[in-house]
Amino acid sequence: MTKGPVVIAGAGHAGFQLAAGLRQGGFTEPVTLLNGEGHLPYHRPPLSKAYLNSGPNTPVFRPAKFYFDQKIDLIEDRAISIDRAARKVSLASGYSLDYGHLVLATGARNRPLDIPNAKLDGVRYLRTIDEAEALRHRIASGQRAVVIGAGFIGLEFAATARAKGLDVDVVEIGTRVMARAVTAEISEFFQKQHTAADIRIHFGVHVTRIEADGGKVTGVSLSNGRRLPTELVVVGVGVLPNVELATDAGLPVAAGVIVDKHLRTADPNISAIGDCAQYASHRFGGSMRLESVQNATDHARCLAVQLTGNAKPYDDMPWFWSDQGSSKLQIVGLTTGSDQVVVRGDRASGSFSAFCYKAGKLLGIESVNNTSDHMIGRRLLAANRSITPEQAADNGFDLKSVLT
Ligand code: FAD
Repeated sequence: MTKGPVVIAGAGHAGFQLAAGLRQGGFTEPVTLLNGEGHLPYHRPPLSKAYLNSGPNTPVFRPAKFYFDQKIDLIEDRAISIDRAARKVSLASGYSLDYGHLVLATGARNRPLDIPNAKLDGVRYLRTIDEAEALRHRIASGQRAVVIGAGFIGLEFAATARAKGLDVDVVEIGTRVMARAVTAEISEFFQKQHTAADIRIHFGVHVTRIEADGGKVTGVSLSNGRRLPTELVVVGVGVLPNVELATDAGLPVAAGVIVDKHLRTADPNISAIGDCAQYASHRFGGSMRLESVQNATDHARCLAVQLTGNAKPYDDMPWFWSDQGSSKLQIVGLTTGSDQVVVRGDRASGSFSAFCYKAGKLLGIESVNNTSDHMIGRRLLAANRSITPEQAADNGFDLKSVLT
């Protein structure tokens, strides 16, 4: 059992789950959760989905009473520096906190757009509840939106805005949607779905300039010379992990804060979890940084167990979901880098899965409107079981039979 207070910087999915998990695990030392956002800690995924439709209730994890009852000190403040020798964290308010163990759960922030007029009021991002609330108002009264980036968040927003009646253009520098994360088969399905909903997707171009008149956004200029008129630009070009606390404290940082298989940084008294952490993966080899609720909460669960006495390495199977329009995408495993994709089910019916293999080994499964394949896939991959590409392609083959 870790001695002394645990201080957690960041009260997102990872930070919240760690604080709750420590108490569930019987941890009796003080637990402080530094909340940098001025709202009770909340779920992020609804922000680009249901929240834009329904709002304005904050989708909180737990009411304030939970933190009081669990003796979790939820403090509205930000960590600004770490004194590793003295085991102290300085806060933006001027106070400082002693720690026995410090956890960086600082997540990520929007990658800013660096083109002329990108700071105007009509250019918006979608990471926090305040940003979602501002967008909710905008789309309630707006007529048009240009979304920059056809990744998960850009497309989720585009689908919601279109369903609300806005005229929507998506500008994507690549040649297919969600190209960084999914196979061409899944990209093609969602591209067709969004196009059928009259969302115009412009591939192979980028926005060179936000056009404005008197400080108000009037459109965007594209690299192919076209101009798209709009009052609202939504930027979804990825995130930057919040690693500065670690960097300034002299801890190794690459694509995220570098941690080992136990989620410890180079300093054994400091861990990093969630979107900000680049962890050593025994399962996949090498190291990786993932951006998903599963990754954040499973990191937190694993670390809670470690800090309460059991040094189990982190080895969970990644999974992810995205809701876009009427379709749900679910992914298990790591499907990028596959050399063979087998489609199971009928693409035309809108319910199918892409089984992704590398050198004949099942890497992961991407399912569209097929939660059954996804859930069986989670059990299969977690148990290190596989099915052959021929079995995957055979709709009559019972996937569950491999589990028995
Ligand atoms: P975060 O949730 O980013 O939380 C980090 C917190 O730390 C923030 O509140 C930040 O303000 C705070 N912080 C930063 N620096 C400091 C500091 N110095 N001191 C104190 N606090 C600090 N994932 C899915 O799996 N499925 C989805 O459908 C999905 N949809 C999403 C939709 C949206 C709009 C967004 C933005 C993300 C979505 N994600 C989804 C991704 C998922 O929300 C993230 O992977 C997850 O939130 C990561 O949790 P985290 O705790 O690591 O980081």
